[in-house]
Amino acid sequence: MGWSIGFDSGWNRDIGYGVPPTCDHPECNAKIDRGLSHVCGGDVYGGERGCGLYFCGDHLLLPMRRPQLCERCEKRRKPFAAKPDHPEWIEWKLTDESWQEWRDENPAEVTKLRATLTAVHPTSPGHS
Ligand SMILES: [Zn+2]
Ligand SMILES: [Zn+2]
Repeated sequence: MGWSIGFDSGWNRDIGYGVPPTCDHPECNAKIDRGLSHVCGGDVYGGERGCGLYFCGDHLLLPMRRPQLCERCEKRRKPFAAKPDHPEWIEWKLTDESWQEWRDENPAEVTKLRATLTAVHPTSPGHS
């Protein structure tokens, strides 16, 4: 272990305890991290039973003799939809020095992230 940032190609997003998302439960806004203690299934990408989404302590069940699971996986239902990344994280990727190389290599992603941020913080033209 000891990874702070990785990439989940299944959900197509950054994972690791260095990433600050909100809980993936649709009605929850708890701020967590994408470390192993929050992943459904108890392992990166969800292990064998989990969906690999990330939940706060209130939304991870701890069934006996099974890894921590979200309520959907516990009932073997379709997983929740993945939430978009936290604006704070997007801003970090767009501005922090440690992501400079990534930005240089992924100009299309950078454009997409900028658009996402603008959608989260609309400047409401014409209403002031
Ligand atoms: Zn799950
Ligand atoms: Zn939650």
